[in-house]
Amino acid sequence: MSSAAVQTPPPFTVDDYLARARRVVAAASERGLSGVLVTPGPDLVWLTGYQPTAITERLTVLVLAPDQEPTLVVPTLERPDAEAAEGVRGMKVVDWADATDPYLVAAPLLRPDGRYGISDSAWALHLLGLQKGLPGTAYESLTEGLPMMRAVKGPDELARLTAAGAAADAAYGEIVKVRFAGRRETEVAANLAGLLRHFGHEQVDFTVVGSGPNGANPHHEAGDRLIQPGDAVVLDFGGLMFGYGSDTTRTVCVGEPTQAIRDVHEIVRLAQEAGVAAVRPGATCQDIDRAARAVITDAGYGDAFIHRTGHGIGVTTHEPPYMVEGEEQPLVPGMCFSVEPGIYLSGRFGVRIEDIVTVTQTGGVRLNNTDHGLALVE
Ligand code: ZN
Ligand code: ZN
Ligand code: ZN
Repeated sequence: MSSAAVQTPPPFTVDDYLARARRVVAAASERGLSGVLVTPGPDLVWLTGYQPTAITERLTVLVLAPDQEPTLVVPTLERPDAEAAEGVRGMKVVDWADATDPYLVAAPLLRPDGRYGISDSAWALHLLGLQKGLPGTAYESLTEGLPMMRAVKGPDELARLTAAGAAADAAYGEIVKVRFAGRRETEVAANLAGLLRHFGHEQVDFTVVGSGPNGANPHHEAGDRLIQPGDAVVLDFGGLMFGYGSDTTRTVCVGEPTQAIRDVHEIVRLAQEAGVAAVRPGATCQDIDRAARAVITDAGYGDAFIHRTGHGIGVTTHEPPYMVEGEEQPLVPGMCFSVEPGIYLSGRFGVRIEDIVTVTQTGGVRLNNTDHGLALVE
């Protein structure tokens, strides 16, 4: 099992991070926001490269606003770690000590009558603290206010997502060679996690192994069930490589599949194909859901496709925008998201097929390219 030689992309520089911060401020102004408050989580990672070792009750917030230097408010004890982050090197850092009021430290950075976009990952504790300290301020979810903030990936981000997708594909290429029959789901899941790491992932987020009836639960991870000959097995796995996500699903069969498994697998394969084929600039997120769902509904399994068709991916493995009915956000070149229809037959089996797709001028390009047919495993 050779490990593909993947070149490590050059790290993001302080200028890369500052350029992102400037774009966010411009977009916020355009939306009539006074600025943006970024708390620990994916938004802060994307804007600074800083991820506190533990996200806690102590306030950490990056304040971005026009005509103002990007300023990170941190607990005094976290200051050294924060300042070690590449993006933070280009920003102002203000700290607050225990037994002082962090909201008083943050207050001068905000307009008393301002309206701010705030990270979805912000704790209610902190938002309530800011509102109490500055009763004239108003807040809105960054996902609502700036839905495209992290959605459109630059070439440096696409390179990472492409590498992560290729590594996940390499893991799939190996997992179909291991024995399934007579082993527990958790054992195959452990094989998958090891393979993702082997092919370069620094973090494994999930390794779903849903065998037989367990496959009918889309979020079943892996359990003690012994995999049986004849089982359909949903394999959905991903994590982070170079800080960017992978997420792919294939459904395999242990030995000879029943006609029902073959038929349902083929419907899902065609639905996934239709979802990917619908990707083009100007189509909306809900168009992708509709295209995939129509195939499944027309085949009579509409009630068995019980989730949205996809989600964005970037510095996390699940993020906005969502490929779901009602999401009218238009697709833009550089966006990356999953197309993952499924059919779930309670008590019997499930089938899901998932690729990450990026939008280009001429349509969707898959970042996962393993065979979409029903693979037979031992
Ligand atoms: Zn999921
Ligand atoms: Zn997945
Ligand atoms: Zn997914």
